[in-house]
Parts: sequence; structure tokens; C-alpha cells
Amino acid sequence: MSINRRNFLKMMGWSGAGAALAGCDMPTTVTLEEGREEVVSYLAPEEYVIPGVGVWYASTCTQCAAGCGIHGRVREGRVLKLEGNPDSPINKGKLCMMGQAGVQGHYNPDRITQPMLRKGGDLHAVGWDEALTLLNEKLGGVKDDRFAWFTGSLSGHQRVMVDNHLEAMGSRHHFVHEVVNNAVSRRVYAEMFADETPRLRIDKAKMVLSLGADFMGVSESPLLYSGDYTRFRTGETRGLLVQVEPKMSLTGGSADLWLPINPGTEGVLALGIANLLLNKLKMSDAGIPGEVRRLIDSYDVNRVARHTGVAGDRIQRVAALLQERAPSLVLVGPAVEGHVHGHASVAAAMMLNHILGNVGKTVEAGRRLPFAQLQAKSGNTADLLAFADLAARDQLDAVIFYGSNPAFTAPASLGLGEALGHIDFKVAIAQFPDETAMAADLVLPVNSYLEDWGTQVAAYQGDMAALQLQQPLMEQLHPQTRGFGDIVLALLKQRRSDEYGRFEDYYGYLRNAFANMPAAIKGGASDEAFWNAALQVGVVDVPAETASLHSQVVNFADPVTEGSGSQALTLIPSPRMGLWDGRHANLPWLQEAPDQISKVVWDAWAEMHPETAAALGIGQGDLIRISSDQGSIEVRVTLLKGVNRGSIAVPLGQGHSDYGRYAKGLGANPLKILSPLVEAETGEMAMYATRVDAKRVAGPDQFGLVKMGGSDTQAGRRLVVTVPVEQLKRSRGA
Ligand code: SF4
Repeated sequence: MSINRRNFLKMMGWSGAGAALAGCDMPTTVTLEEGREEVVSYLAPEEYVIPGVGVWYASTCTQCAAGCGIHGRVREGRVLKLEGNPDSPINKGKLCMMGQAGVQGHYNPDRITQPMLRKGGDLHAVGWDEALTLLNEKLGGVKDDRFAWFTGSLSGHQRVMVDNHLEAMGSRHHFVHEVVNNAVSRRVYAEMFADETPRLRIDKAKMVLSLGADFMGVSESPLLYSGDYTRFRTGETRGLLVQVEPKMSLTGGSADLWLPINPGTEGVLALGIANLLLNKLKMSDAGIPGEVRRLIDSYDVNRVARHTGVAGDRIQRVAALLQERAPSLVLVGPAVEGHVHGHASVAAAMMLNHILGNVGKTVEAGRRLPFAQLQAKSGNTADLLAFADLAARDQLDAVIFYGSNPAFTAPASLGLGEALGHIDFKVAIAQFPDETAMAADLVLPVNSYLEDWGTQVAAYQGDMAALQLQQPLMEQLHPQTRGFGDIVLALLKQRRSDEYGRFEDYYGYLRNAFANMPAAIKGGASDEAFWNAALQVGVVDVPAETASLHSQVVNFADPVTEGSGSQALTLIPSPRMGLWDGRHANLPWLQEAPDQISKVVWDAWAEMHPETAAALGIGQGDLIRISSDQGSIEVRVTLLKGVNRGSIAVPLGQGHSDYGRYAKGLGANPLKILSPLVEAETGEMAMYATRVDAKRVAGPDQFGLVKMGGSDTQAGRRLVVTVPVEQLKRSRGA
């Protein structure tokens, strides 16, 4: 086998800066025998298997891209319960509801259990041999950039394999799509702090001003931030949380002060606060460019109050608190990024961290693995737009989809359904019959993450850089499913048999990669001991790389967005902890879990402020039609004071036309009616800028929306007497 050292390291994922850690000898390849297992019947169990007593194994959650560590309780060969892995630097023993529901995806009755090939218009079951022969045949005829991978966020050795396969195919096209993403913020962080993923230390702040950041619910790392938040609240000085957003989120529900704001005006609010800090509270502008300073000076508090709908005295109070409670931290969420001037809005908000001197105190350099090949490729929406465009222009002949469902998440305006028809050969590596799999020509059934091998690297690391191991917690439930790594390895063997032919399976590849990990990481342990420790703990602590952080305000545009269109309301397609972007709509536990704010279960609905609804003749439980310039959806209404008066919020996740018995045909998908608006600087989809009308179609029906929260009023019974703070102050003369 003649592979040079450089290529070998690249194949194993250790090339790049990390090789400097190496000092490792030339590779020692794990023998294939080591990867063999002896299957023993439970009638003659291993010594440690005690009937009725569970054994816990470490692995990694892939229910979102945060990369939390898990422990799975396995009894009599079945995984029964998942918990957080205390050794994970991300979730430190905690597990969110989506993580808990992982077992329902694993045991889900709607899993795809064998390969399927489209013949005569319909998908028919075929064997793996036929499927792979056809796949290799089809890919063999595709030229360079006419082939693409389309995935969700991808990291670790799965990313290495996909990258190497793309290289072997001669293609540059890897589209990485996530509806829930922070791509615009990442750009701003890189421009202002020289670090795309700075560590945002909520736990070190005395005050957090969150502009729509649902950091404990839907964010890049909900459990890491939740841990930070606990310390923020329980530290010597109890931290103060001010949340400003157009629709109350899970995090907003915990705030000390919650302020509704007109959608898309968060950047204007940030400029108004900067104006007060510099001009009234006399803070230093710390080298802000003249153009930005003029922009700040043009936003006095009255102008800002008019634009944002936030009262002037509130804005002044927030500015004063930020100055008093140093160090503070200003965060942004998707609603800030997701309008036409999202980049400018995020930049205005991050400028507050600069003025307040937070950079270096609560904005720290993020930790990163020193192996560029393994780092997370985080998803965005610009890739979806680029993919739809290429497909519509007949520029793609074959695409492999994995971990993403663009047929569900793409707005109707993209015409993706038709564009997919231009691609000759569409392959879906899928666990469930989602909309994209059902549109594919070949469907390859993949193991659940509880049955699969892999490594995961979180894009947003905690206080160390961790390579997390994913190991099967039990034997495959269905004999015809395969591991993702095994499927890609089979493709690579076709193209690069000299490099990959030696590996019987992906397990063997991973063993080899671990055996050849730089010696500095293995700390003198033998290959076997190192591998066993990784299996046991689930986490490999890797010496971290950090960027050298700087704090520098760059020029940005005026973030003000003038309303477009004659429609009265702004649509907020709100993702939630639970169904997320719709990927968990097939899990009954998550359908059954009440929405954290509205308490509705098993449905899609619209949230409207009671006064807005009343003005439109709409009441609680009414069926309404929400219409944009791209179409309409029908949902029932729940009235909620936690929504800005000019907005209407519809949760993401429902409205599937496929995706199994629990998801199909339930509710409506607000993504479908988004206007084709794009963020001006980054080309990301402006998802929070669509204007809509709402019209009553029918009154409440016999069933209505099912709410787990009971009544949210006291129906005039004064069970708990409350007095608004303002009234209390007036009555006491304070
Ligand atoms: S936050 Fe994401 S990775 Fe962590 S437990 Fe929840 S779903 Fe899993």
C-alpha cells in the first residue's frame, strides 16, 4: 500500500494545523480482525450482563447540531433510556427533551428498513447489491461539479468522508443547509472579533441584553447556555436578563424584563442604546469609525422609540443598567439576523459589546479543534438558495441528500419541487420517509444514531475542545439499514480503492483514525487503552486552538427596514425546542410536549396579540387564513400578549406531506409562504421579513386547539391579586 504520510493524515482527518501536535510515528494500521465481533446469544450472556440490570454506554446526541454527550441505558440488548453524559463539556449531564426523545426515533414504526428504487414512478424495495451497483454506475457517469452532496450540519469523520468523496468526484458542491442557524452572526463575529464562534460567557455577565436570542431554547447550544444561565442567576450578583423580541420565546419567559419590539428593528434599538451610552452616559466610543458614529448620532431616543415600538423611558433604563452592571453581554437571535438588513442589525448589537468593554470579559475566544477537517460545517440558508438555483438551471446530474429535508423547508417561491425534477439521479440516505426521501430516485436506509459509529465536533465548544465519540448502543433493529459511514466508505472504495480498500467497514476506519491520532492527544496510552477510554467516556479532550480575539467596529449599513407590501402583519416563523425545524414532528413525545409559551400540543397555530386579533374580528380558537404574496396557510389562533402587535407568529415544524404517521397531514408549514427576500450583505434568506394578512375563515370548532396549560386568565375571580409595578409606584408615591 503506497500512500504517503500527507495523504494518510488527510484520509484520517488529522491533517492541517493539528498535524503539528503529532510527533506520531508512521501509521500503525489496526488489523481487521480487531474489528470482528463474536455474536453471543443472550442465553449465554457476557459476565457483565445481569438480567434486569441496565448497563450505561456513552455516545453523542445528534438530535440537533449542539453535540451533547449522552449515556444510554441498555438492558437485555435494548436501549431503554437516554441521559446526559456528565463528562461532556457541553451539556454536563443534562439532556433536553429532543435528546430524551431520541429513543422514539430509534424505535419509530415508520423507519425505512430497506433500500428503495424508483421504478415506473413509484419507489420499490430492492437489495443493497442492486442499489449500490446502480449508484456507482450513475455516479460513474457524472462529471465533476455536476455532482453534489446536500446535507445538514456535518462534522467529525463523517465530514472527512464526505469531503474526500467530493474530492474523488472532482466536485466542489457541498450544500449545507439548516433553517435554524446563525450564519449572519458568524459573519459579524468574524468581522468584529476575528472569531466566527466566540465563547459568549453568559455566566460571567452581570446583565444580559438579549435581542431575540432564545439561547436556552433554540440556539447553537441550548444546554451549554442553560448551564451558563444557571451560574448567571446564582452567582454572587444575581444576573439580570432583559429580553427584547417580537414574540416571547422560552428564554424570554425567564426574563426579568421582557419587551416586545417591532420585528426587524432590533438594530435600530441597538443604535439608540449606543447613542445614549455615548452621548448621555458619556462612555468612550472606543475608536468607532466616523460613519458609524454619525449613524448612531442620528438615532435619538424618540426616533428609536417610534421605529421600535419600545417606550423611550425603557430604552433609557436599559442603557443605564448596561453601564451600571459591567461586564454585561449583548446577544442576538434569528429574528435579528433574518431580515433584509440583518447583518447591519447584528453588527449594531455587537457594537454595544465593543462600547461596553465586554470583549475579552464576556466575549471570549472560542475553542476549536486543531484539525480543520473535523470541524463542524455549520448549515445556513444561502446554500439552499444556491442549490435551488443550480438545480433549476440544469447544472446538476446527481445529488446525495443526508440529514436535511429541503423539500419540506424550502419556501414555495424557490420552486424546489420543479427544480428537483431537473436532476437525473437523486439519492436520499434517510432514516424516515420525509419529503426529500419520497422525491428521490434511490433511498438508502441509514442506521439511527443509537446504532451507528461516528465522531462529532460541536461548532460551538464549551470550555475545552472536544471530539465526541458516537458508538452503537445496541445491535441494529433492522438488518437492512446501514451506517452512514459505511455507505460513504462503499462509495469511496469505488473511487479510491488504494486508500480505502483496506477498511472492511467504517468501524475499522475509525479504529485506524484513533490509532493514528497525534501522540500528544493520546498521552502515552496504547492504541487499545486509548480507544477503550474514548468508548467509556465518550469524549476526547483535544488541546484547543483559539483565535486571537480583537474588538473592532467595522462600517455597517443603516439597519432600518421600511415595511414593504400592503399587508398588515409581519410573519414570524418561530422554531421551538421540540419540533425544531420540523425534523422531530414524527416523534409523539415531542408532539405531546406543550409548546413552552402557548401550551398547545399536536398542532400548528398562530399566535396573535389580543388587541390585534380583536381589530381584525378574530377570536380565540378561530380558524384564520394567513396570506403572503406567495400563498396562504390556514391555522387556528391562540391569543397571547407575548406577541408584538404588528406580528403574527406561527411555529415551525408542522405541515408535513410525508414523514410517517405522526407527522403527515398535521398543521401547516409557514416556511412555504415566505417571500423571496434575501439578507443584503450575506445572501441568507430573510426569513423574518414576510408581510402577511390574516383573515377569519371560521369560528372555533368542537375540538379547537388542545392546550395543556388550562386557562391563562382568572376569569375575574381575583384568585391571585396583582398590581402593575407602575400602579404600585404611583400609589406609594415612589
Ligand atoms: S441540545 Fe441538541 S444535542 Fe443537546 S441534547 Fe438537545 S437535541 Fe441533543
